[in-house]
Amino acid sequence: MIDAKKVMLKAKQCKTVIPAYNIPYLPMAEPVIRAVVDNNSFAMIQVARVEWEKFSAGTLEAVAEEYMKYKNDEHTLLHLDHVPVIDEDYKKVDYISILERAIKAGYRSVMIDASRLGLEENIRCTKEAVSLAHEAGLPCEAELGAVMGHENRELPPYEEIFRSKRGFTDIEEAKHFVKESGADWLSVAVGTIHGAVAEATRHQKKPEARLDIEHIENLRDALGIPLVLHGGSGINQSFISRGIAAGITKINIGTEIRQTYEQAIRDYNDIARAQDAVYDKTSALITDFLDIKDSRNLL
Ligand SMILES: [Zn+2]
Repeated sequence: MIDAKKVMLKAKQCKTVIPAYNIPYLPMAEPVIRAVVDNNSFAMIQVARVEWEKFSAGTLEAVAEEYMKYKNDEHTLLHLDHVPVIDEDYKKVDYISILERAIKAGYRSVMIDASRLGLEENIRCTKEAVSLAHEAGLPCEAELGAVMGHENRELPPYEEIFRSKRGFTDIEEAKHFVKESGADWLSVAVGTIHGAVAEATRHQKKPEARLDIEHIENLRDALGIPLVLHGGSGINQSFISRGIAAGITKINIGTEIRQTYEQAIRDYNDIARAQDAVYDKTSALITDFLDIKDSRNLL
């Protein structure tokens, strides 16, 4: 079994990226894993709470069970994405019990997201989650800054977000946050946005995002831990290799493969055909978008 913390440090050292693919529909797990293995790459398979609350992933245990059927320990790891302290509808979440369930179900790393709280509250909740994960021997990802998009409300125009650096992770705050919370990896806001999850907007195409490369480099130099990019779908491809070189070690990809699956279901109403479409899309992401075919050899 590969150690999630070690593999991320290795990826950081050799400047490659580990994609983490979201599974909002259980049948997506098999074709995603197959594409990862066939392209000799390495990836995390993950699910966020919003995907079992608002899509049909079911429960975190159901995703773990599906994962265990198809996993390949040489190429894949199971990660728990966003466990929010305050969710996208601004409701409080019993995050500790979700994390405990994930540890029991066999997740190899977890994420706590207290980014809707102020800095000190975020630190307090993150520290609690980190110590729970560390007791189980697992690394914990946290988020600082505002990667917008999950919230059920209109986003400001993308150009305005990027120009004003609205919600971007502050360097000094991040230094303080990592030191105090003990988080192993940090999800940073550097230009990307999450795909919409609200019923009314989830099928819309995401606006094309850019990355603030200099900001990523500054965060990397200040923090020294692996950085995570959420909202990986829809980034202008020319920024990807520069983002990785600048210090991005994990990139979350959800919307692109989810919309591929949903579109195929709408077109054919056939799960096997939708799985084929997800396989092709994941392969294309590995070979063309991320350019990490054979990345397994580096890790
Ligand atoms: Zn995210």
